[in-house]
Amino acid sequence: MVEAPEAVPEERRWKLADFDIGKPLGRGKFGNVYLAREKRSKYVVALKVLFKNQLQQSQVEHQLRREIEIQSHLRHPNILRLYGYFYDQNRVYLILEYAAKGELYKELQRCKVFSEKRAATYIASLARALMYCHEKHVIHRDIKPENLLIGMKGELKIADFGWSVHTFNRRRTMCGTLDYLPPEMVENKEHDASVDVWSLGVLCYEFLFGTPPFEAQKLSDTYRRIVRVDLKFPIKPVISTAAKDLICQLLCKDSSQRLPLKELLAHPWITANADPSGIYAGCGGASA
Ligand code: ATP
Ligand code: MG
Repeated sequence: MVEAPEAVPEERRWKLADFDIGKPLGRGKFGNVYLAREKRSKYVVALKVLFKNQLQQSQVEHQLRREIEIQSHLRHPNILRLYGYFYDQNRVYLILEYAAKGELYKELQRCKVFSEKRAATYIASLARALMYCHEKHVIHRDIKPENLLIGMKGELKIADFGWSVHTFNRRRTMCGTLDYLPPEMVENKEHDASVDVWSLGVLCYEFLFGTPPFEAQKLSDTYRRIVRVDLKFPIKPVISTAAKDLICQLLCKDSSQRLPLKELLAHPWITANADPSGIYAGCGGASA
């Protein structure tokens, strides 16, 4: 993992003039993300610019504070670092680790499906990152391809921390996707860290088959399929029994029956397929 140099200490007071701003990396809900370089250290980062008035209008200032609080304290090779933040009259700026290979979502769109080796490597690295979070009593609750970025070496980086409650509320009222939520969350019941285990099952299925398992035209049908755990495996592509076994052990309605992350890492499909480095080197190339 490439650590920020000494010149990017956490407690420093940053300002926009400390950075050279480069190309836009993407458009977010509350502003844009730019490639940027800290002038003194020449350290390359992603600068996420959020407009205060939009944050206020959507009443998410609280969530943003929580996201900053949570993400800035997490240190893991598969979790996007948040180095710091600053603000001016109209904007809030987040100084983020730059994920050079962009969004996993786009990679999956490009490849349609991932090979079992690639899927297992990603799932194992996410399981390790989530174990680290859960040890710190942090539940992500919003694991899905759109929130996963790819680093320089092809390693996955979990992004978008602390937005979970807000995203959940937003999703429910704004006809977004329910696809990655477990039964207890769509039914508005109590939930714990095992919600992230469920999402790993959904993600693993989507990596291998190209679509999330409970996808449906209508939101109400996705809801029904999730609460019934209406899980079907397509005939094509041909996927190993071991992969399907793991998915079934993650997508359990009873959250206490879901495979613990530690056991996931010891599952035969993971041990046979996942690259121990956590890096899928073929990313960006022609293969899946
Ligand atoms: P949220 O999901 O929290 O509402 P958002 O969707 O408004 O956030 P992001 O997803 O954080 O905004 O950023 C928008 C886009 O910018 C991303 O989809 C991605 O393409 C790009 N991007 C964001 N952060 C980074 C980063 N650290 N490195 C590279 N690209 C990034
Ligand atoms: Mg996003």
